Amino acid sequence: MKKILQFGNKILTTPSVLADINSKETQKIIKELLETVETVKDHSGGLSAPQIGYNKRIALCRRMDLEEENKSKKIIWEVMINPVITKKSSEISTFWEGCLSVSNGGLFAEVARASEITVKFFDKDGKEKVLEAKGYFSHVVQHEVDHLDGILFLKYVPDPSELYTAEELERED
Ligand SMILES: [Zn+2]
Repeated sequence: MKKILQFGNKILTTPSVLADINSKETQKIIKELLETVETVKDHSGGLSAPQIGYNKRIALCRRMDLEEENKSKKIIWEVMINPVITKKSSEISTFWEGCLSVSNGGLFAEVARASEITVKFFDKDGKEKVLEAKGYFSHVVQHEVDHLDGILFLKYVPDPSELYTAEELERED
């Protein structure tokens, strides 16, 4: 299990380079990502290579769509190597987002993003895949691809007073 880097670390704001799809290093990073996310899975939608110290374009995205549609009761992590968002809807949706690299996932804000996207990537076996994502899953994919570009969700939260702790959110309900 690797330590999850926290906001302020330069690796998180450095754009990542393309990963070599079939390399040993890529497989090692995927293994470390899967091991690390297992320790935090209850409050995680994804994890990207820069968050564990590698500026390579590799990320895990939790298949929230399958969980929402009740197609899967267990958590499935989609391994995405070199993901590219090829289509974004002009329609926008807003969801609460947090990040394991921002106060260890303890701060949340409402973030507006494209409500539907198409993402193209290579899976862990090096096969090209295309997925259409909507709802919260669409936000998860955009959040993780942002990490690969050195962008944290804080970029979309210009006013710090719009950040909430989990306790504050519960009190609001
Ligand atoms: Zn994040």
